[in-house]
Amino acid sequence: MALVNEHFLKLPNNYLFSDIAKKVNSFKVTHPKSSIIRLGIGDVTEPLPKAVIEAMHKAVDEMAHKETFHGYGPEQGYDFLIETIIKNDYTPRGIHLEPSEVFINDGAKSDTGNIGDILRHDNSIGVTDPVYPVYIDSNVMCGRAGVLENGKWSNVVYIPCLKENNFIPQIPDKRIDIIYLCYPNNPTGTVISKGELKKWINYALENDTLIMYDAAYEAYIQDPEIPHSIYEIKGAKKVAIEFRSFSKTAGFTGVRCGYTVVPKELTAGTLSGERIPINRLWNRRQCTKFNGTSYITQRGAEATYSPEGKEQVKDIIHYYMTNARIMREGLQSTGLSVYGGENAPYLWVKTPDGISSWKFFEQMLYEANVVGTPGVGFGPSGEGYIRLTAFGDRANCEEAMKRLKTWLK
Ligand code: PLP
Repeated sequence: MALVNEHFLKLPNNYLFSDIAKKVNSFKVTHPKSSIIRLGIGDVTEPLPKAVIEAMHKAVDEMAHKETFHGYGPEQGYDFLIETIIKNDYTPRGIHLEPSEVFINDGAKSDTGNIGDILRHDNSIGVTDPVYPVYIDSNVMCGRAGVLENGKWSNVVYIPCLKENNFIPQIPDKRIDIIYLCYPNNPTGTVISKGELKKWINYALENDTLIMYDAAYEAYIQDPEIPHSIYEIKGAKKVAIEFRSFSKTAGFTGVRCGYTVVPKELTAGTLSGERIPINRLWNRRQCTKFNGTSYITQRGAEATYSPEGKEQVKDIIHYYMTNARIMREGLQSTGLSVYGGENAPYLWVKTPDGISSWKFFEQMLYEANVVGTPGVGFGPSGEGYIRLTAFGDRANCEEAMKRLKTWLK
């Protein structure tokens, strides 16, 4: 008999977005004439930049001829993309990276979920709460998260991010082996200052902690003082892996491309005390389990860095951030407390009068026909909040604000 990995059975069956879909569907059945505006799911709506389309068309044509056809590429990604990334995303910020420290992937979800392959099952985990669910669920799947007790996993330290602490995660008073940080943050839309991030680097250096830094939304940062990369902080290369994505930057959610930076200086221990370079293990893992991102996709990603590509990406970000501003101002005018939305495409809204996340979600659906995401779906500290995204169509964002203003009057 083949035995299953029973850790999978510990995962709660329901998945936040399928629960939402069920509730929205039953509303649609009972209210067939109502038009719903979805401000819930974090998928983009703007098409790919023109420069990307042209580069991908060209790459498809290359695939049509024997002389320019590309089969399996390097598991780590093509040099043309890796070098362009380093030149544009890191060198201008004073960060020196070698090409072998950058791994191209099919999006940040895969690597943030898979990185645990190279780490022992009994490391302790820390997450900011609320949290992007992949960090926790991927650790549950290999047994690292422990057991679920009262809505929390026993081997996970939850670091609350609430309006009461300005959404600044407090440094833990005990040591944790692996910490996940995500900035700009999904779901709260808040950011971390250089000073606060430095505290985490110091904590990691003092406690031999590995930081998983998810910077999937760095392109949305507007404030020049906010760090885009964790490696802007001295010492970070010794303690941190950084994840990035073209999904939200250039509309690649359906194309699939991102990258992970694993510095050569970064090491972790064995039980006998030996230090092992993480880069070596991750490279070995990728060469065995991943056969590279498609040539066409990587040419598309490269094009986001051309002069035209950069301009077009800037326009896309500007479009979504204008949505965010419209939503922020609209929601604030109703008297609601709104966080995020200034350096991130997410708005984190406190529900009024202490109403629960799900209750507010249902009221907003039934009374204003607007769909959000209940904050509690992202962790215990998300209770009493709702997440709205700025990835929608402009007209829908404006109409949604109109409806919410009338509803909350
Ligand atoms: N990290 C965070 C914080 C995200 O919110 C998302 C997607 O919503 C991802 C990673 C995954 O992005 P990708 O499309 O690159 O897999």
